[in-house]
Amino acid sequence: MYDKFYKKTSQERRDILDADGRYNLELDTPLGQEIAEQMVENAVSTYELPLGVATNFLINQKDYVVAMATEEPSVIAAASNAAKIMRTNGGIQAHVKSRIMTGQIAFPNPKHSTEMQSYIDEHTDALANICHNAYPSIVKRGGGVRSISHRFVDGGDKTSFFIVYLSIDTQEAMGANMMNTMLETLSSYLQSKFDETPLMSILSNLATECIVSATVTIDPKTLKHSEDIGLRLKQASDLAQLDPYRAATHNKGTMNGIDAVVIATGNDWRAIEAAAHAYASRSGSYQPLATWDVNESGFIVGSIELPMPIGTVGGSIGIHPKAKLSKEVMRYESAIELMEVIASVGLSQNFAALYALTTVGIQKGHMQLQARSLALNAGAPLDKLDLIVAELTQRKPMNLETAQSIVSEYTKI
Ligand code: NDP
Repeated sequence: MYDKFYKKTSQERRDILDADGRYNLELDTPLGQEIAEQMVENAVSTYELPLGVATNFLINQKDYVVAMATEEPSVIAAASNAAKIMRTNGGIQAHVKSRIMTGQIAFPNPKHSTEMQSYIDEHTDALANICHNAYPSIVKRGGGVRSISHRFVDGGDKTSFFIVYLSIDTQEAMGANMMNTMLETLSSYLQSKFDETPLMSILSNLATECIVSATVTIDPKTLKHSEDIGLRLKQASDLAQLDPYRAATHNKGTMNGIDAVVIATGNDWRAIEAAAHAYASRSGSYQPLATWDVNESGFIVGSIELPMPIGTVGGSIGIHPKAKLSKEVMRYESAIELMEVIASVGLSQNFAALYALTTVGIQKGHMQLQARSLALNAGAPLDKLDLIVAELTQRKPMNLETAQSIVSEYTKI
């Protein structure tokens, strides 16, 4: 897909995307100051990140070009390379298990938790109606309350809580604001009915009812370093399951890809980060989100599962021109489809990192990009950047000091 895309100029890349109906020059415009001022308080300027595209993705038999906003070199190249390998192997299968958001109302040291429990169980429909009256538009869109549950948490010498959980179908929105509106209305109702004062009412980022998974099967023979590669990837996966120091870095590599798409599509990446890491810890020990194994046929099988509470509307998605541009590039049609793409990118990113780590090591592929970054940090002028990078990759040690000395050689008058 888009052969040798990485060798093109950025103008050529835009032209290729445009010719493929995946670009809109009118949206290729910076976030205006007047919009930025509406988005945050005390705005003084905007903060830019490179927006690139990862190619080669085949997910559920559909071709994708994936928009990624990241400052980290090698992330987009790694995703594209991994996606190419996966495409050769039939692509990635992704699936959304459920797309429901969770919120909670917490009552500290409750006096009437037994009565509240019975009341909620017996009046779930009436309580759901109270929520719907607080945010009727989501019901018209086909969403709304799907369940109301509760639990009592005995805090021992700490505070005990009666917690009400609200599960809402927020349709195409991430739904934090509609959730919080419903929660606050429900909490006021329960407060007046039971004379209990709620501590807080807020969406939970541990979105255990908004889960996406993706899997891929790879014939090791399709890999350049095929010897023992299945075993090595399985061992890398085992290591992350046994050692949280490795699991954190394993997941960081996965989130390199996930965050980049979440940011490019205008979504709340703190929400996704919080969801991912809380989910990774749900067993009590911090676990990898993506795991690797070898099946009976000797094929490598990778899978990922994590919460993905993103939206295709709401928040800054409809405001930020680059979020709209990313949608044109990616051509996703629903939040469910976007969840599937993001999980697939995470799986590819994890594969790329583990494949490099367990074969040639991570630094080999990073050298050129690292040299470029060092040269820019050392003040290399753009017209001499390639020459300085070429020189820097030949010198040892490849560090900022060396880069600065080469830059001064090239910029001497
Ligand atoms: P919005 O408050 O923007 O609500 C979604 C909007 O999308 C609504 O105005 C809704 O219209 C509109 N909409 C249009 N089409 C649809 C559709 N098909 N399905 C659903 N809604 C549709 O955003 P969210 O409620 O999604 O909240 C996300 C924001 O909340 C993010 O910016 C996030 O950063 C922030 N946030 C996150 C928190 C957290 O993660 N803990 C906490 C608080 C806020 P209508 O009103 O007509 O229904």
